Amino acid sequence: MLKARKVVLNLREYHPPLAGRTGLRLDFNENTEGCSPRVLERIRQITPEELARYPEREPVERLVADKLGLDSKQVLLTNGVDEAIHLVCETYLDPEDEVIVVTPTFGMYEVLAEATGARVIRVQCEGELRFPLNETLRAVNDGTRMIAIASPNNPTGTVASRDEILQLCGASPNAAVLIDEAYYDFHGDTLLPDVSTVPNLFVARTFSKAYGLAGLRAGILAGDQEQMKSVRRVASPYNVNAVALLALPAALDDSQYISTYVEQIKQGRERLASTLSALGIRYWSSQANFLLVYVGERHREFVEAMRQRGILVRDRSADPGCDGCVRITIGTREQMDTVLPILEQVLVGRGLSKVVRS
Ligand code: PMP
Repeated sequence: MLKARKVVLNLREYHPPLAGRTGLRLDFNENTEGCSPRVLERIRQITPEELARYPEREPVERLVADKLGLDSKQVLLTNGVDEAIHLVCETYLDPEDEVIVVTPTFGMYEVLAEATGARVIRVQCEGELRFPLNETLRAVNDGTRMIAIASPNNPTGTVASRDEILQLCGASPNAAVLIDEAYYDFHGDTLLPDVSTVPNLFVARTFSKAYGLAGLRAGILAGDQEQMKSVRRVASPYNVNAVALLALPAALDDSQYISTYVEQIKQGRERLASTLSALGIRYWSSQANFLLVYVGERHREFVEAMRQRGILVRDRSADPGCDGCVRITIGTREQMDTVLPILEQVLVGRGLSKVVRS
């Protein structure tokens, strides 16, 4: 009987949203408003000829590289950050190589690294869930071929500083250091310019979050020019579909849309944080479009109570170091006007808040 490879059979399953997410979707860190109207306008104008042709990635890659202040040889457009991670794994990992993943974090690093037969070494954030630089440095050895770090991290919202990451790159010259900046727009610090001087650094970005295009599947992988030649060898020439490639210039053109949206999210993040503080509920300071919140052992009940009120939030209790935690994506101003009173009602009504209201 046909059998999948052993490493594949042993992979932990990652359960993405595949169906049935009705309500206000504060569970997957998407943009809850939708993309720039200019993007929709461009998509509506797509001609049959544009869909009949194989997609041409290069012109859009040049445009993206220009916007980022990089050479197009340093930039590869990808089918979301997911594919960027996959390509780095395929380019650098042999069976038994070591991959360092700082946990808790986005699940796909482990899945895609383990699928190559590489061994994942987990370095756990402690207490404040800050990036554990010293522990990560201690985990590096001659067999380390990849280090994956999300900054801002998911589900914590915490960041690794540029200095810390550069130190790590210097200490692990044989490893591809992948910095996943999926939530860059909500933070503003980046290592992107450093790909020109640090040969083992890769930076990934996405159009799935601030740009509101998770359904289009478009991301960016940037790295050293020579290294990117190898990465391109394992990528399909048609990895990014025509609709995405036609829409991206419009998305990049509307920077006003992004700044207005991001400003709203930052304000919403502050409002959610103040509400939680006033209720005596613990949360972690976040530079992303979500907050990780400690609701305690009744986390399932909390998620269900919110769902019954039409608001989807994500239970992260099973993540390492996140026992009793849920993750709440920040919505638009109007959405937060609706969410915050409901959140307070659920937390206080169920006695999850430390502050008792009559
Ligand atoms: N990286 C991180 C840290 C994420 O949280 C997510 C989405 N949850 C992704 C990557 C996936 O991005 P994309 O949609 O571009 O594949």
